Amino acid sequence: METYNSLLTKQQFFFRTETTKDIAFRLEALQKLRTAIKTNEKVLMEALRADLNKSEFDAYTSEIGFVLEELRFTIKHLQSWVKPKKVKTPVTHIGSNSYIYSEPYGVALIIAPWNYPFQLAIAPLIGAIAAGNCAVIKPSELTPKTSEILEKLIGDIFPEEYISVIQGGVETSQALLDEKFDYIFFTGSVPVGKLIMEAAAKNLTPLTLELGGKSPCIVHKDANIKLAAKRIAWGKFTNAGQTCIAPDYLYVHQSIKDQFLQQLKEATIELYGQKPLDNMNFTRIVSERHFQRLCSFLDHGKLYMGGGGNQERLTIEPTVLTNVTWEDPIMQDEIFGPILPVLQYNELSEVFTGIHRHPKPLALYIFTENPTVQQKVLTSVSFGGGCVNDTVYHFVSPYLPFGGVGNSGIGAYHGKGNFNTFSHQKSVLKQTTLFDIPFRYPNVKNGLKKIKLFMK
Ligand code: NAD
Repeated sequence: METYNSLLTKQQFFFRTETTKDIAFRLEALQKLRTAIKTNEKVLMEALRADLNKSEFDAYTSEIGFVLEELRFTIKHLQSWVKPKKVKTPVTHIGSNSYIYSEPYGVALIIAPWNYPFQLAIAPLIGAIAAGNCAVIKPSELTPKTSEILEKLIGDIFPEEYISVIQGGVETSQALLDEKFDYIFFTGSVPVGKLIMEAAAKNLTPLTLELGGKSPCIVHKDANIKLAAKRIAWGKFTNAGQTCIAPDYLYVHQSIKDQFLQQLKEATIELYGQKPLDNMNFTRIVSERHFQRLCSFLDHGKLYMGGGGNQERLTIEPTVLTNVTWEDPIMQDEIFGPILPVLQYNELSEVFTGIHRHPKPLALYIFTENPTVQQKVLTSVSFGGGCVNDTVYHFVSPYLPFGGVGNSGIGAYHGKGNFNTFSHQKSVLKQTTLFDIPFRYPNVKNGLKKIKLFMK
């Protein structure tokens, strides 16, 4: 079985040359990456089409354009982020100054999933480079074309001792995890996240876990129904529901349920056509196994819309299921497909009870015009991040660090958060030698009395 010890040794050696810590080097690397992505735009789009039938629009907005924007933002702000940050110094430390230095961890391992196979491998890489690390990327084996382009694109611009892409499946991932990296950044499912944390624990390697789960979407009685329906249809059915932060299920207030569902149907037709299975731009399900898993959910609940599928092309229509309960199979795990189950409620307390019985979600969406209800939801429920009156959109702001909480993940990235994630915050006190305050020493007269004036 292959080991990656020699690759890691090469990267560790390169890191120790301190080349990657140079700001000009980091900026040049980010710029090179940006140019390579732009040059490879067409082949990337073809690969994403081959792997997941992503349309050019989807490939650009959610993968290529997204990382270009993250690169632009990082290049623009890096000079200010890398500066040691001067912080206050307490009076007990008079004469000294205090700083926080952001230092790279060393060699980072990035393990990526298949649903946004380019973005979720490159976005963390941007943080790793910006912070001055070397990196090894292990993309998903389920999107082989994109992984192939990734390997070539990175191999063309960076030497392997700096950044390297290792293709392979579970065994490759495990072999990489046997090595002692300085940081692990994992995006994927909750069960695998637990295995990654176990492997990291063996070496006490710090890590970020970007996981998934069931993200609720609440539509309250006073919501702007038409807009809510459109934004939910988009957030749920984009990428055929294979988005970690897609609304997993709906909680709709009973008094507006019929009206809302009608609007949801219209919005879905507007976005994806009367016959979504004939829409050649509708993303497909990643594998036969996932296709079968999703189809099995249709045996429970009542079909409100959709329900059709094409096994040969692995596509499933945008589907809405009503008469669903928490006991149904579709409510047991993250759905990760274009099927939206609808629960109804009368009182918000029922919603909170339902959500609280399950692990903390990665995202939550609340549609209401009432600020008190908004506030109540935001303070009562713990979740990774989310939106009021929208879905998914918080993900694309570089000013909002993105990540989960509890079972949906540990840590966050994007924008400065991405730089911070791949940096150790080193606290440093610079002391004066011009004088020496005596209180702290045990031989000072009335020392305890004097120290109590400062430490009380
Ligand atoms: P996954 O956990 O099956 O695989 C992710 C990566 O881990 C792949 O590269 C895979 O090769 C590797 N892997 C799989 N089994 C492994 C093992 N036993 N040991 C070591 N490595 C292993 O996830 P997936 O199916 O590719 O992606 C879907 C999941 O990812 C969903 O749960 C989704 O919610 C989550 N996700 C989360 C985010 C986020 O940002 N929080 C983004 C996208 C996807």
